Amino acid sequence: MSEYDVIIAGLGAMGSAAAYHLAKRGKRVLGLDHFHPPHTFGSSHGATRIIREAYFEHPVYVPLVQRAYELWAEVEKASGRKLLLQTGGVMIGPRGGVVFDGAKRSAEEHHLRHEILSAAELRERFPAFAPTKEMAGVWEPRAGILFPELAIQTHLELAGRTGATLRFNEPVLNWEPDGLGVRVRTAEATYSANRLLLSAGAWISRLAPELSLPLAVERQVLFWFEPLSSRDLFKPEKCPIHLWEYDRERFFYGFPDLGDGVKVAMHHQGEITTPETVRREVGRDEVETMRGLLRRFFQRLMGR
Ligand SMILES: Cc1cc2nc3c(=O)[nH]c(=O)nc-3n(C[C@H](O)[C@H](O)[C@H](O)COP(=O)(O)OP(=O)(O)OC[C@H]3O[C@@H](n4cnc5c(N)ncnc54)[C@H](O)[C@@H]3O)c2cc1C
Repeated sequence: MSEYDVIIAGLGAMGSAAAYHLAKRGKRVLGLDHFHPPHTFGSSHGATRIIREAYFEHPVYVPLVQRAYELWAEVEKASGRKLLLQTGGVMIGPRGGVVFDGAKRSAEEHHLRHEILSAAELRERFPAFAPTKEMAGVWEPRAGILFPELAIQTHLELAGRTGATLRFNEPVLNWEPDGLGVRVRTAEATYSANRLLLSAGAWISRLAPELSLPLAVERQVLFWFEPLSSRDLFKPEKCPIHLWEYDRERFFYGFPDLGDGVKVAMHHQGEITTPETVRREVGRDEVETMRGLLRRFFQRLMGR
């Protein structure tokens, strides 16, 4: 008999959640990570993540997000920690564009609570925002902010308490099928399990090279800017999470000020890289590009 029902390779956002939920179902779980999550080498740091329901990308995502809301509530209850801050959210772009039309379609097909706001209504309701007059927004009340480092820590603590074995700083070197199960090798030991779950994020291709997965790792930069005036307009009550189609199929998104400035970032458009060689410094040119966008849509956000 295998030592474990499931071995999880990678304990970031995905693996830590899987570890908890599998352990909760009574599975014998071994979780392994290259580092000690939460850490700053993967895809799950930077303090905040958006959760939104009216997915502009496609309505097919909506039931998945709705299930995620149930599970976040469950984990908050089990841990006694606040992991999700509901701020509402607004998807802004030209009418006919992918963000506005896509979010509206998801909201309508899934009968989500939402409001359509014209550019003037957006400016009035959220005075920090300066959409152009061709733009409109889909406002949804359930969107909000998840705290990824705390979420990972919480999932791991709950997984450990529920019986999962977690080993940090122990990367999976390779694995092979073994009868009906799998053998997994690290520098420390060889483990056996019925199933292997690969949740190694940006490193995943290394663990399944023969699949030639069509994946590319994209560098993403996060920025925090200080409002120059009217700081209150950037507080969560006045500034929901927001995602903009600022030019055709070009997107940026942002969060309210939670005390450390207003976080904004491009959605995609990052250079293709690898986890080992990714450039970790932020260039002055990148800050200026972001500032250029803020100049168009957030004139009060021109501070440091
Ligand atoms: C900048 C940015 C902003 C984002 N914004 C949003 C957002 O607002 N909303 C949203 O829903 N999503 C967002 N995402 C996506 C979301 O954050 C990611 O999908 C999620 O964090 C990925 O989690 P993961 O577990 O796949 O990867 P990671 O958290 O990176 O975890 C992978 C883990 O695998 C480990 N590992 C690697 N190789 C091995 C090995 N050989 N053996 C053992 N362990 C190994 C690593 O150490 C790491 O801990 C964003 C992503 C980024 C990068």
